[in-house]
Amino acid sequence: MSPRADWAVAGLLLFLIALPSKAIDRGADGQFSKRDSSHFVLFQDVDIDRTSGLRGSRRFEQDVLETLESAYQRADRQLGLRPQRDITVIVYDPAVFDAQFAGLLKFPAAGFYGGQIQVRGGDQFSSSLIRVLHHEHVHAAFDLDAPGLTLPAWFNEGIAEWFEAGALGRSDLSRGEAQLVATAAAEGRLFSLSELSMPTFGRMGPGTARLAYAESHAFIDYLVDVHGAQKLREWIQAVVRTRDVARSARRTYRADLSVLEARFRERWAPER
Ligand SMILES: [Zn+2]
Repeated sequence: MSPRADWAVAGLLLFLIALPSKAIDRGADGQFSKRDSSHFVLFQDVDIDRTSGLRGSRRFEQDVLETLESAYQRADRQLGLRPQRDITVIVYDPAVFDAQFAGLLKFPAAGFYGGQIQVRGGDQFSSSLIRVLHHEHVHAAFDLDAPGLTLPAWFNEGIAEWFEAGALGRSDLSRGEAQLVATAAAEGRLFSLSELSMPTFGRMGPGTARLAYAESHAFIDYLVDVHGAQKLREWIQAVVRTRDVARSARRTYRADLSVLEARFRERWAPER
């Protein structure tokens, strides 16, 4: 899932929540337009086209689909994820999104994945929307490439955060994220990976979730920094194949997850 742009964190996964099946039938005034591309089927609230001043141009839809297709290609290249089934994406009028989903989360969301990518639209196509789409695509791709596999949230969100950051250039931590992780490390408040192993961070309060996302991102970033991006791809492919995160890590990195975690914490340990 993806928290809002004014929020430091992005991305969340919500497959445990039963979504209103009627959601797709109700735009702000009950209308969604449909359009598809090679790998995506997009439903968009027609009001977005109106409020963006681009009425009838369908420019917003085209931008969303182009972004998703580029996320698809990059996920194939960098993560080895290449879903073979079409992915449904629903872009809501912001007010409709807030009314429909606000109660499901403890922090403001920009999007989430629950069998379909659900996104809070806006007045214009923005860099935060690009990030959200790349982020949610990772959750969708895992779900389709490894159906029914419940991944630990640190793995799923960490990779989604890393991939999302890479959509706009650098995949490492933002200054805010790095500060959050450094402060938590200095105060001995870092979570252990096992504490971040629930299926979703969606039940966490805002402060806790912020650190959980940042730390998950930091762990993936650490692995890429030390072992390279190719190893991350190998690990993900092994997880999809064997459905075992820990054993796949051992095979790929030649070290137990607990050892990798200890090295990660060592790197963030305050200097004495
Ligand atoms: Zn997410």
